[in-house]
Amino acid sequence: MAKKSDIASKLLAKVEPQYPLPETLPDASLVQQGLYFALRRKLPADASKAALRKLIDSYADWNELRIAQAQEINGVLQLGPKGVAVAREVREYLQEVFQRSHGMSLEFLRDDPQSTQRFVSILPYIGMAMAHHLLYIAGNGELPVTPPLVRVLDRLGLVSRTASIKKARASIEPLIPDGKELEFAYKFGEVASRWCDARKPSCHQCVLVDDCKFGKKAYRDWKVQQERMEQQRAREAARLAVLAKKEEERLRKEAEKQRKKAEFEAARRAKDAERLAAIAARKQAAEDERLAKEQARIDAQRKREAEAARKKAEEAARKQAAAKKKIEEQKKAAVAKKKADAAAAAAKKKAAADKKSAPKKKAPTKKP
Ligand code: SF4
Repeated sequence: MAKKSDIASKLLAKVEPQYPLPETLPDASLVQQGLYFALRRKLPADASKAALRKLIDSYADWNELRIAQAQEINGVLQLGPKGVAVAREVREYLQEVFQRSHGMSLEFLRDDPQSTQRFVSILPYIGMAMAHHLLYIAGNGELPVTPPLVRVLDRLGLVSRTASIKKARASIEPLIPDGKELEFAYKFGEVASRWCDARKPSCHQCVLVDDCKFGKKAYRDWKVQQERMEQQRAREAARLAVLAKKEEERLRKEAEKQRKKAEFEAARRAKDAERLAAIAARKQAAEDERLAKEQARIDAQRKREAEAARKKAEEAARKQAAAKKKIEEQKKAAVAKKKADAAAAAAKKKAAADKKSAPKKKAPTKKP
């Protein structure tokens, strides 16, 4: 059976930190060390050192830097467009220091174990790799033993979990290859923050899962859970597909119903229109007939009136002609009478003259 120290060395080789282990700055305070580590996440060593110097020169109070705008910080750093991202790292680091320590100093890491334990319990930005690094510096090269480190090593089966830091240190130190205390603390700190969460470890993503007793079981459970979830997803997808099909069928039937209804309505409207057109045609025909009759009646009336007028005119003409004729006759009769009267008068006059001039004759006897 392999020795635990060999196993620890093998595991150590498997861990690739997100940010390579940065160098320690001589004569820097712990908060400055941490700031340098934060800068190293985005900048090379020389640029990080220059940036730290500029920040130290520009900000007498780290709290001012903590609340400064990223643009303002970048104005100090003079890093161009990438400087805004660097400034955000700076602010996040200082914000976490402030929230977790209620101050802007990390010197308590050197001599206050209780505050140190509280500080390292939750460090979402700083993480346990950087925290172990700071603790290593604070402890002057002594291995930092924290609950997250003990938790990871316990799950890996390398040590037994204990609340006693002293006992834990005694179990851990023999596992560390000579001179690799910082690398050991840094890399297992990375495992603790990145995958080996106290409550919900991400063993399925952890690089050490194949060598981890706890992780193998957790990974198996995760796989079973994933399979169950996959089955559940498949069932849910099938259920949704059935529902979608039913809905599609319902919509199809509904559309068919609407189509038939529309057809029926169109046919009814056409029939109604036909009926109304027939009624209108009948009415029109009746009206035309009535108008024709009326026109005929008017025409007949006019004809009768014209005939009556014509007859009346003829009668008037006839009467006028008769009157004219009568007047002519009367005139002729008057002329004739006048002539007769004149003739009679002349005859009488002549007779009277004749009588006067002629001898008297015996009157003829009357025959019986
Ligand atoms: S496999 Fe899981 S339990 Fe093991 S070290 Fe990785 S995260 Fe932790």
